[in-house]
Amino acid sequence: MKNLLDLTGKVALVTGASSGLGVQFAKALAEQGADIAICARRVEKLEAVKKEIEGLGVKCLAVKCDVLKVDEIKSMVQAVEEYYGKIDILVNNAGVGDATPAADLSDETWRNVLGTNLDAVFYVAREVGKVMLKNGYGKIINVGSLHSEVVMPPNTWQVPAYATAKGGVKMLTKALAVEWARKGITVNAIGPAYFGSEMTNDILSTGGFDPVAEAYCPMGRAGREGELNGAVLYFASDASSYTTGQILFIDGGWTAM
Ligand code: NDP
Repeated sequence: MKNLLDLTGKVALVTGASSGLGVQFAKALAEQGADIAICARRVEKLEAVKKEIEGLGVKCLAVKCDVLKVDEIKSMVQAVEEYYGKIDILVNNAGVGDATPAADLSDETWRNVLGTNLDAVFYVAREVGKVMLKNGYGKIINVGSLHSEVVMPPNTWQVPAYATAKGGVKMLTKALAVEWARKGITVNAIGPAYFGSEMTNDILSTGGFDPVAEAYCPMGRAGREGELNGAVLYFASDASSYTTGQILFIDGGWTAM
């Protein structure tokens, strides 16, 4: 049977691929045969990831980009298009965490979280979307969150800015999906609960997370490395040719309750 998840001949751009989930997504896409472009601000880390990906037998272009700067997004997307001639897949992953309670949130933190986790997701999708519209083909995967749907219970930690941004990602996904549905482009999102990364290591390693997961996550645990890859590959491949505007929560059942 044909491998439904085969990405041979495709070009995938993953933002925020200098650490954490972005690195895992880039490697999973490469393992299915896609050539890869990665971007982030920390160049040394990006270069190390580039080498790992090339070791999987595909091409990898690393481009420095601060997604808070629209001109850098534009030049990054242009560089990827010039290098590969197209962009088939976008994993819109770059993001920052924040758990500041509302009354303590500074204007600066609010803008940084919304700017990185929502504005930039739109700006990257818009610029990559123009390339995909020219080619009549594209698979966009936005990285939402458990907090696209629910916030944290009282007496735990609060995520007002983060949840507002990730809730916006869910609706942006639907808006772009509908607008581009007849142009050969699907737009979907994943909504992970808590997975180990630079962003979450503090919460996961201090033990504060465990009782919360016990109470609110049917599976009673954080996500494990690799448990997001199936969803990303589904949305990135033609296995999802009739699926658009969806957010798939990968959360051990958290949002089912
Ligand atoms: P990490 O902190 O490990 O990775 C974040 C990535 O985003 C890094 O590569 C970072 O690169 C990049 N990034 C941050 N700000 C910018 C910027 N201004 N310009 C360019 N790149 C930037 O965290 P995760 O891997 O956990 O997070 C990845 C995504 O997954 C985020 O969108 C996050 O919200 C989401 N998510 C994570 C969950 C988790 O439990 N880990 C759960 C749900 C969603 P650099 O600093 O080099 O620029």
